[in-house]
Amino acid sequence: MSGENGNEEESRGLKSLRQLIRILSVKSGIDEAMADDLFDFLLTVDPEKGISDEEVEQIKGYKQADVRKVFRIFYDLRIASYRRGKHPDTGATRYYWYLDSRDADLALLRRKLQVLEKLKMRLKYEKENEFYVCPKDGARYTFDYAYEYQFTCPKCGTMLVPDDNSKYVKVLEDRISRLEEEIKKDERRVFGR
Ligand SMILES: [Zn+2]
Repeated sequence: MSGENGNEEESRGLKSLRQLIRILSVKSGIDEAMADDLFDFLLTVDPEKGISDEEVEQIKGYKQADVRKVFRIFYDLRIASYRRGKHPDTGATRYYWYLDSRDADLALLRRKLQVLEKLKMRLKYEKENEFYVCPKDGARYTFDYAYEYQFTCPKCGTMLVPDDNSKYVKVLEDRISRLEEEIKKDERRVFGR
């Protein structure tokens, strides 16, 4: 499991940001778990589009008033911003929130780097191991594990068959190269390179 220390290093900035959000939430009488959850959620929102408090209520189930209070904290921290838009149906003014600033970009970049690290570890594991699968229940075992059970499924006793994981390896490789491209773009944006 090399690289784990690196990950911890990477996520320190994100951790301190979260801590700050929690402290400010408690100070404002806002549920800190909700604030934390909304921060995670906003990390997934395309900053070009943004999201309205109404949409957040529909997706996450929090009251719009509470969502606005949390977003206000993000706004005061200068990690979130909003743009004015119109409701697609009613034409009423709506505010579309998104994570802004270098801090948020960095937080997102760190998160992507963590995902990349996990995908690479997974790929290594898939490439370095042989797998056997139970044709009856689909349970999957490494060669060593299958060998220990004399190639019969420990759950149901069915003979295990070799599992061709080349498709899965390909999927992982594709995801990794796409994510690497994305990270390169993000780095250029964040660091201005
Ligand atoms: Zn089985």
